[in-house]
Amino acid sequence: MIVDRQGRRFRNLRISLTSACNYACTYCVPNGKRLVAAQDELSAEAMARGVAYLIEAAGIERLRITGGEPLVSPKLEAFMSAVGKMGLEDISLTTNGQLLAKKLPLLVDAGIRRINVSLDTLDAGAFRGIARGGDLATVLDGMNAANAAGMKIKVNMVPLRGQNLDQVMPLLDYCLERGYELRFIELMRMGHLANDSNAFLQQFVSLQQLLSLIGERYEYLQADAPVDATAVRYEIPGQGFFGVIANESVPFCRTCSRLRLSSTGWLHGCLSSSNRHYIGDLLDKPRHQALPALQRLLVKALGDKQEVAFSGGATVMKIIGG
Ligand code: SAM
Repeated sequence: MIVDRQGRRFRNLRISLTSACNYACTYCVPNGKRLVAAQDELSAEAMARGVAYLIEAAGIERLRITGGEPLVSPKLEAFMSAVGKMGLEDISLTTNGQLLAKKLPLLVDAGIRRINVSLDTLDAGAFRGIARGGDLATVLDGMNAANAAGMKIKVNMVPLRGQNLDQVMPLLDYCLERGYELRFIELMRMGHLANDSNAFLQQFVSLQQLLSLIGERYEYLQADAPVDATAVRYEIPGQGFFGVIANESVPFCRTCSRLRLSSTGWLHGCLSSSNRHYIGDLLDKPRHQALPALQRLLVKALGDKQEVAFSGGATVMKIIGG
């Protein structure tokens, strides 16, 4: 097992199945152009082999499938079917929910029981302004269907000053009423926001600001969370839970156990580092050749992690999926 001086190791793998996306969210894709799949994306089989090798070489226990938008990828079914047989503790998926109702039978058959749905507002006009793709009612229908199918749902919201701050309470109420756990994600200095402090600071909403807003209506208590959790979790007694991924306010680098693999075969050990390590060429090699080379790259990837706090990264979320 590869462990660093701070005792960190990779346990959680996030795979960006494709960089294609049917949205062009303002904070992720500043030019508003829909993303297409990269030409050199790995096949479903190569990606699944990557997961198998990473389970062995890094000790990966949990997998999250993300993107781009994973549900637009034609590789989804073959990939899920392959990784479903690898004995992972948990396989989950992050989606914008636009194709959720349509793909639900596939996800249920593949054994997916937990999904995160990204939803920044319940206002249809604001939705169009932020997501610049898709349609709000379709996402809500998708979540209803997933909920009825017994899936555990977390909703990811990025609060943005001037765009959706008025939606914090409506979204919280919506989630509490349905038993979904709302996760606020503090805006991250990624991609264009890493170089544009003004744009970042104008939109950024902190954990403290969120808690003050929520505290006007609800009493809440801090709740338990796993030691390597990214979110600070809160309970509103008798109503439910919410969380805040407060990468700026409560940095979690010291306990980070995440490893990311892009759709084109690059390993990223840290969102805040522009270093990446190519493993696409190893995935055609037999295990005995691939694993030692992979281990050398994993040592480098682990060394890319920040000691204390995320400081920003030129990498764009659409490439590595958050
Ligand atoms: N398409 C899928 C979705 O919408 O959930 C998966 C990919 S998306 C990049 C994953 C998550 O990253 C979304 O919840 C999105 O809101 C979040 N995200 C993207 N850019 C971000 C940023 N700069 N700061 C915080 N969260 C961001």
